[in-house]
Amino acid sequence: MKVVPRVVALDRRNPDEAAIAQARNVLLRGGLVAFPTETVYGLGARGLHEGDVRKIFQAKGRPATHPLILHAASEAMASRVASHWTELASRLAQSFWPGPLTLVVPRGADVPLAVTGGLDTVAVRVPNHPVALALIHAADEPLAAPSANAHMHVSPTVAEHVVRSLGDAVDLVLDGGPCEFGIESTVLSLADHPPRVLRPGALALESLAAVIPEVVFESLTVAPNAARASPGLAHKHYSPRARVTLADGPRGVAHDARRGCAASRSVCAIVWSDEARESIAAMDTKLIVLPADAEAYARALFGALYEVDASGYDEVIVERVPDRPAWWAVADRLRRAAASA
Ligand code: AMP
Ligand code: MG
Repeated sequence: MKVVPRVVALDRRNPDEAAIAQARNVLLRGGLVAFPTETVYGLGARGLHEGDVRKIFQAKGRPATHPLILHAASEAMASRVASHWTELASRLAQSFWPGPLTLVVPRGADVPLAVTGGLDTVAVRVPNHPVALALIHAADEPLAAPSANAHMHVSPTVAEHVVRSLGDAVDLVLDGGPCEFGIESTVLSLADHPPRVLRPGALALESLAAVIPEVVFESLTVAPNAARASPGLAHKHYSPRARVTLADGPRGVAHDARRGCAASRSVCAIVWSDEARESIAAMDTKLIVLPADAEAYARALFGALYEVDASGYDEVIVERVPDRPAWWAVADRLRRAAASA
């Protein structure tokens, strides 16, 4: 029999104190608690306890060199994990926290190297979710929390995804309903001058550029793996079990779907344009239509990939998204979902 973790549902706006206390006890015993944030579900452990942090790597099967993000309850708590907190860090914190911006800053002495994968910098953010904030307050320490999925697998946007991906490797799952953004935070390195986006994400690049016009970011479709300063980013990731094929426009979708079927694979397609939908309307291919708006698409994408796996398809053909800044976070996830290793 498959063992499932304990799942506790709670009201996202007004988290039940008893549930938070239960989760706190799991953390204080050195256990792992999956919890909702506004981006995706995180797999949390006490971030300043090396032994606890190591359990996250074990549970996910994540290489020890892939650094984790620390989640703090306030800018004050976040600043204490850094060896120094600059005026720029403070300006960004005040503009975007709580929210989906992760700052990479010089590592403070209290942060175990296990968190940072051996680096002298550390990633930290304050999540905008009452359940996450209540849990961090209760633990009275920043929580290390990568996405609550097995290494390279799809990030969870509802509690059920966590259970499907991690099973009993997690001690407790706090179920706060679906995540608002459904895609990970934007990671900004303040160790680079000028500051540089290491991972596009839920915070729009335009919003960031409005506060720090000097920020550097590249189109990942133009410069796929160019000098990526962030360990863990250039790898296959966000992948369902099904093979992922990125298809160019309606013709590409129809062509790849035909080829998959001809090879006797069970094929499903994820599209956003009317043209792509029409291109395979007459075919016997299961169709998932996602919104043509980048934010709404991002919110729905990981759920669609979990659905593809739950239905047991061999291959999913995904229509390429537009190469515009608003779509870069999604384009990055799709490119890595389709990577072969
Ligand atoms: P996730 O697994 O979604 O929590 O993503 C964490 C990502 O944040 C890692 O894969 C890194 O790309 C990035 N990151 C965390 N810490 C650092 C750091 N010290 N320097 C650069 N990137 C980091
Ligand atoms: Mg992840």
